[in-house]
Order: sequence, then C-alpha cells, then structure tokens
Amino acid sequence: MSAISEFRAETRAWIEENLPKEVAGQPDFFSGGTKGQPQSADHRRWFEACYERGFTVPTWPKEFGGAGLEGGFAQTLRAEFARAGAPAPLGGMGVTMIGPTLLEYGTDDQKTRHLPKVASGEIRWCQGYSEPNAGSDLASLQTRAIDQGDHYLVNGSKIWTSGANFADWIFCLVRTNPDAPKHEGISFVLFPMDDPGVTVKPIVLISGESPFCQCFFDDVKVAKADLIGQENRGWTVAKRLLQHERQMISGMGGGAVGGPREGLTDLGKRWYGEEDGKIASNAGREEITGIDIDSRAFNLTARRAAEENASGSTPTFVTSMFKYYATELSKRRSEAMVSLYGTQGVGWDGDDFDRRALGETRTWLGGKAGTIAGGSSEVQLNILAKRILGLPD
Ligand SMILES: Cc1cc2nc3c(=O)[nH]c(=O)nc-3n(C[C@H](O)[C@H](O)[C@H](O)COP(=O)(O)OP(=O)(O)OC[C@H]3O[C@@H](n4cnc5c(N)ncnc54)[C@H](O)[C@@H]3O)c2cc1C
Repeated sequence: MSAISEFRAETRAWIEENLPKEVAGQPDFFSGGTKGQPQSADHRRWFEACYERGFTVPTWPKEFGGAGLEGGFAQTLRAEFARAGAPAPLGGMGVTMIGPTLLEYGTDDQKTRHLPKVASGEIRWCQGYSEPNAGSDLASLQTRAIDQGDHYLVNGSKIWTSGANFADWIFCLVRTNPDAPKHEGISFVLFPMDDPGVTVKPIVLISGESPFCQCFFDDVKVAKADLIGQENRGWTVAKRLLQHERQMISGMGGGAVGGPREGLTDLGKRWYGEEDGKIASNAGREEITGIDIDSRAFNLTARRAAEENASGSTPTFVTSMFKYYATELSKRRSEAMVSLYGTQGVGWDGDDFDRRALGETRTWLGGKAGTIAGGSSEVQLNILAKRILGLPD
C-alpha cells in the first residue's frame, strides 16, 4: 500500500469515528475568536477533534498547530472531507489570509506568537485595507503610522472591515512614508482591536444586518514587533495576502451560502415546461445548459490548478482569473435562478414565499458583493491584462 493510500484509509476511519452525524453535510461558519462559537455542540466536538489532529490548518507545520500535510496528502484529506460531507472545522481570515501570509513573511517570533492562536480558534482576525477614499486604488490609503521608536502611533480610518465587531486582531495597511511614491510608503502591521484608540462602528445595511464596519484609529499604539516585512515595503505583503483572499473567494464561488439550492435545470423545467425530459424552450435550455457547462468546466479547471499546485507553492496573479470567473459565474447562475422563480424570486421574507426562493434571492444579492470584495471584477481584469497578458499600464 502506498503512503497516500495508507493515509486515505486512516483518515477515512478517523472521520467515521469523529464526525458527528448531525454535522455531516451541515456547513459551519466558525471563524474562531473570543466572541464566536461553532454553531452547535456537535460542531464544537468536530472542531475540537480536528484541532487535536492539526486538521484546522492541515497544511501548516506541526509546530504552529497544523498537521504538516503536503501535496497529495493535503489533497487526499480534502477529498475525504468532501466524501464524508465534513465541513471545514474553522474558517475566517486567520486561516485563509493572514496565516498563510505570516508563514511566508513573518519572523519566527511573529509566527510563534500568532499562528497557534489561529489554529486553535482562539483569535479572530479582520482586514484593515479599504478606506473611505481608497478602494480599488488601495495604494492611495492615508491611515498614518508615525514612528515612536519601539512602536508606531496609528491614526486614520478603515471601512468595509468585515467582522471587525467580532475580531480580536486586525492586519492593517498604514502609511509610514507620506513623501515616497504611493506604493513605496506603505507598511503592513498587526494590532489588537481592544486598544483604547480603536472605535468600531457597524455599518447597518438595508437588510438590517451589519456584516462590515467602519473602524477609527486615534493614537493606536502598534508594537514594532508586529511590523510584517520591512517598513515601507508593506505593499508586497499586501498583494500576497490578496492572492490568498482571492483564492479563498473563488473557492466559495459556487455560492453555497444562503440556503439550499434547487437545481437550475429542474427549475427551468418547471418554468418553461418539459418535453421529452428536456426544458421545453430553446432559449431557456441554451441559457441553463450554458451555465451548467461553464460551471463544470470551471470546476475542472480549478481542480487541475489545485493538482498542479500540489507542491504547496504560494498562489500567484492567476488567482485573479479564478476570483473573477467564479464570482461572475456565481452571479450569472443566481440571476438565472431568481428570474426562473418569477414573483417568488423577489421576496425577502414571509410565509408567502418559497423558502428555497428566499434563500436564492439572498444568494443572488450576496453574489454581487462577491464580485466586489477582495478587489472588483474590473480590477481583476486590469491585473490579468497587466500581469498575465503583459499589456501596457
Ligand atoms: C462583501 C464585502 C466585504 C468586504 N470586506 C472588506 C474587508 O474586510 N476589509 C477591507 O479592507 N475591505 C473590504 N471590502 C471592500 C472592498 O475591498 C472594496 O469595496 C473594493 O476594493 C472596491 O472598492 P470601493 O468600494 O471603494 O469601490 P471603488 O474603488 O470606488 O470602485 C467603484 C467602481 O469603479 C470601478 N473601478 C475603480 N477603479 C477602476 C479601474 N482602474 N478600472 C476599471 N474600473 C474601476 C470598480 O470596479 C467599481 O465598479 C469588502 C467589500 C465587500 C463588497
């Protein structure tokens, strides 16, 4: 038996023994932190079993709480989780964004202080990139950090900070040299959200929910020990983290959130009628089949890319392509679903509406946000034009 086959058999048996049946097939959105909890006691049991085995961050080194799985082993674990319907025990920006970035750019001290607390779900992170006047043109950010010897004093404001009201720490872009060209005066720092100079104001959306916040920093003290990479070279670190973010978003591009999804083809048959087992409208069939074919082609391409990346190398500019395509495809699919639900597709709440249609309407609205978060679709196209196709600026 090869080492991978042995690992597969072992992992399958372990999952069978440890995955509570109430959790199988049920997603969890646990991002860790002092203010969060897995969604049920069974989910917590699953989380704890995974943590003990290094499976909350399976590809990280064991010394930081991972399982040290590389290449084919990591893929096998993913495949076995998928086979059993096992949800990821832990998500959020610690696992998907700042953790991998620290593994590459952090000092030993920074890795040792921060990574184990991500793996154990103790600390939840948020992202301080966007500002009121710096979104797509992120490098024009103005939050200022002034050198005070062993620390910086940070003043300014960040906006659209997802989950800031639940986060314990923030990774943040600050301007350390206002006189340098804009990309060359930025530093990447970390600090706790309970500093007395941090004020977090949730932004209430039309839905009544507040998935993101505006953060204000007044003389926030940031230890130099939490400067990642070199001072004024934070843009390089920031770009790498965005690649991790885009990779994560493209993995979510299938739009699993927002309730159960009825098959597009079934819905098409209900709307247009059915003839010989097919959707009884050429135009409707063409649209729906086109989306299905593109989804399958995308999933295969994503799988091939993951296999080619089995060596565990870090993501590249190509993540822009996956982020762009996954989120636009998800939006296209949701738009088709909502229009096929007809008047049911315009509901927000209430017993008059089909539960699945309500879920789909929310997925549709959330899907639009996916084409903006982590850099808008237009920005991804600009990156692809410049970095992959080599077109002039
Ligand atoms: C769900 C969600 C979660 C988010 N979470 C976070 C977070 O946790 N932390 C954080 O820092 N930020 C977060 N953001 C903010 C996000 O990064 C910005 O919204 C995004 O980068 C766009 O910036 P903007 O909103 O300022 O739009 P703008 O930059 O003002 O863009 C407006 C429009 O102009 C287009 N545009 C701008 N420049 C160009 C160009 N050069 N070429 C072509 N078109 C262009 C854009 O594509 C867009 O359509 C989040 C956003 C969303 C939607």
